[in-house]
Amino acid sequence: MAKLHPPKKRKYGKGSRRCIRCGTHEAIIRVYGLNLCRRCFREVAEEIGFKKYS
Ligand SMILES: [Zn+2]
Repeated sequence: MAKLHPPKKRKYGKGSRRCIRCGTHEAIIRVYGLNLCRRCFREVAEEIGFKKYS
């Protein structure tokens, strides 16, 4: 079996940046390898002691 198109194994491009928390593709923040959307980032940021970024 030839591996022509490995499904869902992209490391780059669209589809690779997904929020690891809610799974959205919108406004993903990849800072510090978090891979979170801005919404989840805001929540997680507080948990991990991130400074407020307003
Ligand atoms: Zn999210």
